[in-house]
Formats: sequence, C-alpha cells, structure tokens
Amino acid sequence: MRITCVGGGPAGLYFSVLAKLADPANEVTVLERNPKGVTWGWGVVFWDDLLDDLFRYDPVSAERIWESARKWDEYEVRATGKPVTHLAGYGFSLGRHRLLEILAERAAELGVNVSYSDELSDLAALPPADLVVACDGARSRVREAHAGHFGAEVEVAANKYIWLGTPHVFDTFTFGFERTEAGWIWYHAYPFDDTTSTFIVECQPSTWAALGFDTLDGRAGSARLQEIFADHLHGAPLIDQRAEIGGTGWLNFRRVTAQRWDHGNVVLMGDAAHTTHFAIGSGTKLAMQDAMALADAVAGASGEGLPVALERYEHRRKAAMAPLQKAARASSAWFERLPEYADLPAKRFSYALSDRRGEYPAWRYLLHMSTQSPLPRTMLRWTLSARRWSRARRRPVTAGPMITNTA
Ligand SMILES: Cc1cc2nc3c(=O)[nH]c(=O)nc-3n(C[C@H](O)[C@H](O)[C@H](O)COP(=O)(O)OP(=O)(O)OC[C@H]3O[C@@H](n4cnc5c(N)ncnc54)[C@H](O)[C@@H]3O)c2cc1C
Repeated sequence: MRITCVGGGPAGLYFSVLAKLADPANEVTVLERNPKGVTWGWGVVFWDDLLDDLFRYDPVSAERIWESARKWDEYEVRATGKPVTHLAGYGFSLGRHRLLEILAERAAELGVNVSYSDELSDLAALPPADLVVACDGARSRVREAHAGHFGAEVEVAANKYIWLGTPHVFDTFTFGFERTEAGWIWYHAYPFDDTTSTFIVECQPSTWAALGFDTLDGRAGSARLQEIFADHLHGAPLIDQRAEIGGTGWLNFRRVTAQRWDHGNVVLMGDAAHTTHFAIGSGTKLAMQDAMALADAVAGASGEGLPVALERYEHRRKAAMAPLQKAARASSAWFERLPEYADLPAKRFSYALSDRRGEYPAWRYLLHMSTQSPLPRTMLRWTLSARRWSRARRRPVTAGPMITNTA
C-alpha cells in the first residue's frame, strides 16, 4: 500500500512506524514542512497508560522513549500566601524535540521516507497514494480543504495561555499561582530533561490585558512574566520561541472537533481531527493512540476495504476519547473559574485543583489531607514509586510489535 502522511508530528511519525511494522512492503512517505530537527513547543507529559500502549505496539521506540523520559514523583502546589502542598501521583515528561527525534530515527530505520522542508500547499500536488493521512495539526490544511465534508468546528477558550521554556529545572510537576494587582495568573511547569522545564502560563483575559500583555512584544512579555514568577524561577529566564521571530506566543486554546474523519482515501488523525486542552496533558498521547488504532484498521483493510476500515478507526477512537474529552472540558472550565477557589485554605485549594474534573470519591479527600505531613507523604510516595517500577517491569520489552487485524 502507498501511504502519504501529511505532517511529521507525533501522530504522523508514529503511524509511519506502525504502518511499516505491519507490512514492510508498505511504501510510506511523511511530508513535514519544517526542516529536520526543527519543531515548536517544549516538553510534554504522559503517564503509564501511554507507555503500556507504546511497549505493546513497538517495543523498540518505546524503550528509547522510556530511557529518555524524565521520571517525576508528586505534584507541588504553590500559591501566593499559602504554604506549599503536594498531590500524590507520578508521571513522565519528554521534550517534544527528543520525542520527534526518536520517532523519526525509528521511521528511517524501517525505511519510511520522511521528506523535510516539504510543505503541502495544494492537495492536487499530493503524490498518488492509496491512503492519505492528514496529521498536519490543529490548523490542518487538508481538513480545511474539505471543511464542508469533515464538519469541523472550532471552539475558542476564554483564557489566555503561553507555552514557554525555562532553564530552571523544577524538582517535579509544579502548579504555581500568583496573585497580582490585576488578578490571578498561574503556571503548570515540569522538568523534561537535565537542563530545561516546560512553563505554561495561563490567566483570565481581563488579567492578561491589565498586566499589559496585549501590548508587550514577546521579549518584554517574557521579562514581565519573569518578574511576576521571580520567586518560583530563582532568577532563571523564560523563553518564548515566538519572540525569536518577532512575535509572541500568547494564544487562546482552540478546541477542534470534526463530525467525520474520513473522506475517500483521506483520513484525519491527531490534532487535525480533535484537540484536547493542555490542562490534562493528553494531546500527544491521543495523537499516538490514534496512530495505533489507524494502523490496526489499515492492517485489516484488505478483507473489508479501506472505507470500512477508516470508519472502524473513527468509531473506535471517538468512543475511547469521549471520557478524556469530558475531563479536559471540566479541567479547563475549572481554570476559567479559578478566582472562585483561590481563597480556599492551602490543602483544600490543592484538593480542589486535583479534583477539578469532579470525579474523585470522598476517600481521596481524606487521603489528601492526611498525606500532607512528611511521614505519610513519604510512605505514599514510596508506594507509588514501587508501583511505577513494578508496572515497568511487566512491560513486554522483548515481545514483537502488536498490530491487530481488526477485520
Ligand atoms: C501548551 C500546550 C501544552 C501541551 N502539553 C502536552 C502534554 O504535556 N502532553 C500531551 O500529551 N500533549 C500536550 N499538548 C498537545 C500536543 O502538543 C498535541 O496534541 C500533539 O502535538 C498533536 O500531535 P499531532 O502529530 O497530531 O500534531 P502536531 O504535533 O501539531 O504535528 C503536526 C505536524 O504537521 C506539520 N505540518 C502542518 N501543516 C503542514 C503542511 N501543510 N505540510 C507539511 N507539514 C505540515 C507541522 O509542522 C507539524 O510538525 C500540549 C499542547 C499545548 C498547546
């Protein structure tokens, strides 16, 4: 089968790997507009569920992701006027740059043709293919070219956010909240390698304008944020990638949905099909899980035909994603209402933050309150850490790749 992926992000590169693993005779090309090694964004977080899937589908790239990932324990919550509190849990983070490097290297080993600095501007210019995978991100040109058919809708969230990096290496995933004269402003930060952390800042639009971000350019805006979060950054700078090219990275989150994901031999995948608010850190995971589901569907297509296989993929993914999309909405809505919670005492505030999806049973509150003091906190941390390593040991590092023929 001849397959063209438009977009060499996590979805496109991972699908190209799986398509080659499913059948080395597949001719797979990835068109990526950026030069090799160039991408936007900083580190992303993920959890055991993605690692379990990655190890089942391609243990080779999974092992490299595991080796490169930063492993962190606990969440810290820091807010003006409140003592530091902690949330139980652990996770992983990895620079987007490193993730793409691993996937591109794996794709190349398997014989995928990744064509860099190759921007698709006209669909008519696509090389002949049996399957075209549109994995060209949230502003997908392929989706827009058939906008009426796909029925895409974009909902723009109220809050302002900016995705920054910093050389300050946070100890762990940290939520920080600062009260300013113009209202609350906060960040989600986590280390993703030995020298860099992701630092995502968010605030209500009225706070954003009152703090002057509507008129400051990228550099001046970062300097202003550095002042506001000086106590958290220990003198380290904040880096806005957009400032390098004279702009600023402030945005409103755009929630993309599409009624249909396939059109003839063209199928949407990853952010081109759906976006998920960064408040639950899952967009990359969902994009890579789309790639797994599409690879399964395509492997079964010879029996049932491509259109049926693509429908099967869409239904499987929409059903699997529904609970997470609901959680993402609840989570982003909580941050939009943040000032309502900000005056709660420290422990209750951090519990409200952790239960922002509103799904926790009552015992979680008791556990949270009782594990804020050092000894129970350390014991819980050790227990969770043991769980992390025991789950890691159970992963099928030596097993072959798993592409399921779903026909
Ligand atoms: C602030 C922020 C924080 C985030 N944090 C996390 C996190 O912690 N964890 C997580 O799981 N997710 C996170 N995400 C979400 C994640 O970044 C996306 O969901 C994920 O990148 C989607 O992957 P993708 O491959 O579908 O699209 P993209 O990563 O957007 O890749 C699309 C690719 O297509 C290329 N392209 C676009 N148009 C063309 C064209 N016409 N021709 C050729 N190439 C083209 C682009 O250059 C790009 O490389 C975050 C997102 C944001 C905004």
